[in-house]
Amino acid sequence: MIEKPSADTLAISLQTRAWALGLEAYAHRLEYARRPGKVRMSRAGEDPHAAVASYAPYQWPLLEIDDRRWPDAPIVLITATMHGDEIAGALTLYHRFEEIVQIASEARLALLCFPLVNPSGFENGERYGMDGAPPEGNNDYLRYRTFGGEWIWDLREDHSITEWRWSSDPTLPNPPALPAETRLMHERLKLIDWPRVVAAIDLHQDRITPGVGPGAYHYGYGDLGRYADIVSRIAKRVPILADRDFGVDLSQPTNTMRTDARGFIVRHDGTSSDLWHRLGVPHAIVAETSGATPLEDVIEVNMEWIRGLCRLATQRRP
Ligand SMILES: [Zn+2]
Repeated sequence: MIEKPSADTLAISLQTRAWALGLEAYAHRLEYARRPGKVRMSRAGEDPHAAVASYAPYQWPLLEIDDRRWPDAPIVLITATMHGDEIAGALTLYHRFEEIVQIASEARLALLCFPLVNPSGFENGERYGMDGAPPEGNNDYLRYRTFGGEWIWDLREDHSITEWRWSSDPTLPNPPALPAETRLMHERLKLIDWPRVVAAIDLHQDRITPGVGPGAYHYGYGDLGRYADIVSRIAKRVPILADRDFGVDLSQPTNTMRTDARGFIVRHDGTSSDLWHRLGVPHAIVAETSGATPLEDVIEVNMEWIRGLCRLATQRRP
C-alpha cells in the first residue's frame, strides 16, 4: 500500500529531505479566494474554532525544490500533480525523492522540481484547486495567434500561427482568469533560465477517459524516436496504450486524441509542456498512466521517464 500523506506533510517532508541533501527548498504560499459554497466548511458557524478553521484551508504550500550546487549545470525540470486527483506524480517525488536527486546528480543535471502543483486538489481528491477552474482548466499556459488574428489555446490540426504568448501575458486582448495554482506557477516558471533546461516532464494520470485498462501513454514533441528505449522499458512494466483514442467523451471526435504506435500524442493545446516546447526545451514530456493502473506501477513508469530523460539529456552534451 502506497502511503498518501496530507499536502502539508508532503511539503514539510520533502523540504526537510531536500535541505538534508544540500538542495534549496521553498514553500510558496498559495492563496485561494474565498468562494462561498466552494469550500467544505459549512459548519464553521457552529464551530468555536471557526476563525482558525475557516482561514487555514485557503492557504496551501506549493513547494519548489532547486538544486543550486552547480549553478551552471543543465536543468531537469519535474512538475507533478497539477490535477489534484492524479496523485501518483506527487507520490513519485514523495516516495522516491532521494533516488531522483541521485539520478539527476549522476547525470550532472541540476534538479528543479515542483512536487505538488495543486495541493488543495490533492488533499480533497479533486482535479482542480479549491477555487475551481475556468473552462480552460488549470493547465493553461499559452495563447496562439492565428493568421486570422484570433487568440486561441488549442491548435488541433492547424499549426500555422503568427505568434504565441504566455496565457498570463497582460498584453493579451482577453487575458484569462487563471486559477491560483496556475498563476503561481506562471510567476515561478518566468524566473527560470530556459536555455539551461534540457529536459522537462509533467507527471499526470488520465482519470477522465472512460473504459481504459492499466497502461501508459505520453505527450511529446519533435523526434519521438528518441524515446523508443524509454517506452520499451515502460512496456516491461505496463501495457503501452498505443493506437487508441483518449478524451472525456470518445463519441465526440473533436475532443478526442489518438496515440501513435508508441503511445505518443503530439498536441499544441497551450499546456505547460507545450510552453516548454515553445521555450526551446529539447525534451518536453507529459507522462500519462490510466486511472486503472496500480500506483506501484505508475510510480515505476514515472521513474523510467525521469531516468530516461536524464540519460538522454546527458548524451546530448559535448
Ligand atoms: Zn492530468
